[in-house]
Amino acid sequence: MLRAMSESPSHQTELPEADPEVWALLQGEDQRQRESLRLIASENYVSSAVLRASASSLTNKYAEGYPGKRYYEGMAFIDPLESLAIDRAKALFGAEHANVQPYSGSPANLAVLLALCEPGDTTLGLSLPAGGHLTHGWKVSATGIYYNAVQYGVRKSDHRIDMDEVRDLAKEHRPKVIWCGHSAYPRTLDFAAFATIADEVGAHLVADIAHIAGLVVGGVHPDPVPHCAVVTTTTHKTLRGPRGGLILCRKAHARAIDRAVFPGLQGGPHNHTTAAKAVAFKEAATPEFTAYAKQVVANGAALAEAMLSRGMSLVTGGTDNHLVLLDVTPDGISGGQAARALDRCGIELNANSIPFDPRKPFDPSGLRIGVSSLTSRGMKTGEMDRVADLIHRGIAGAAAKDGNPDDALCAAIANEVREFVTPFPAPGL
Ligand SMILES: *Cc1c(COP(=O)(O)O)cnc(C)c1O
Repeated sequence: MLRAMSESPSHQTELPEADPEVWALLQGEDQRQRESLRLIASENYVSSAVLRASASSLTNKYAEGYPGKRYYEGMAFIDPLESLAIDRAKALFGAEHANVQPYSGSPANLAVLLALCEPGDTTLGLSLPAGGHLTHGWKVSATGIYYNAVQYGVRKSDHRIDMDEVRDLAKEHRPKVIWCGHSAYPRTLDFAAFATIADEVGAHLVADIAHIAGLVVGGVHPDPVPHCAVVTTTTHKTLRGPRGGLILCRKAHARAIDRAVFPGLQGGPHNHTTAAKAVAFKEAATPEFTAYAKQVVANGAALAEAMLSRGMSLVTGGTDNHLVLLDVTPDGISGGQAARALDRCGIELNANSIPFDPRKPFDPSGLRIGVSSLTSRGMKTGEMDRVADLIHRGIAGAAAKDGNPDDALCAAIANEVREFVTPFPAPGL
């Protein structure tokens, strides 16, 4: 008995002792996040308060249903917690109804289709290669398999969304749902123009603001809520909350949306994530967060300018939001080669298709670069020139030997990156 207890970790042993293997990996990742230049446009650093809420005993509780209408007992704290998250989400976005249960952005989008469409109905969304998301009807996604998904793109001349094309396709195909929103589009969206088109064809307009939710609540991107039947978002990108999803909608759709999330698509909500969402919504309503969102956009513009001044080629020639799309074709390498070399330089980003990309999606021509994470660490426009310089030299190193990165150069840049970013604090562990 005694032996068994000493050999197997007790239920109360803290993680470092209970599972040194997992602890070491967790520590390694935490350190990597502190020491690298994190430029993945969909990522961020959450606050210590958000981290704490997600790592709580709320994970132990089942709560299928909604506040006041559950299939389980023991809801004394879970019901008020979910109600608090809902109220904060509604207040933050000025929405009539909020569902805080979606496990992430993708299931939130599928829930919307389940609520508003029948299988086989027509939808219209921005195509993946033009900067849209998989779940807006791309052919390998459930949203493209079970629905008749028509896609719009961007204009060949300036790589911007062409509202005339959206209107023409809407009139021709009469979609039930029109998606607006993106994962890799460096310009603002004209929700009012989308709404006019949706009205003309009797479609439900759905904005997916996964990438830009933090900018919307910070007042530095147009607001979709007044124009849309439904708005979906992730909570973990510019909004800087835990990994999760959120659906906002008009009262008229509240019942259908709630039923689509549960029991339509999901079982029990992840209460620890609900708590962390509530914390993030509170943070996002502060003047500090508004200042953060403004700084994100200012940093995006400063980074774009610094890259352009180095002769780098940006899709649409710049940015209005948190991300730039860099075309590395002039460097004679692929986006994949550039991204892998930059990773060895401690610069973390992702290869991305550019509009009308001649290369395959798995190894496209571009890099997607976002500034939300660096801004959370306190970097300002003054630091963006250095960021552009590091990226520029890293790509030159990658292109040096026929796309085989220069090892010494990558190691030297990684050291520089570590010294550069370490003074900027990042909550972790
Ligand atoms: C990231 C993203 C999603 C998906 O979110 P997951 O949490 O990864 O499922 C959906 N829509 C858009 C526009 C996104 O950028």
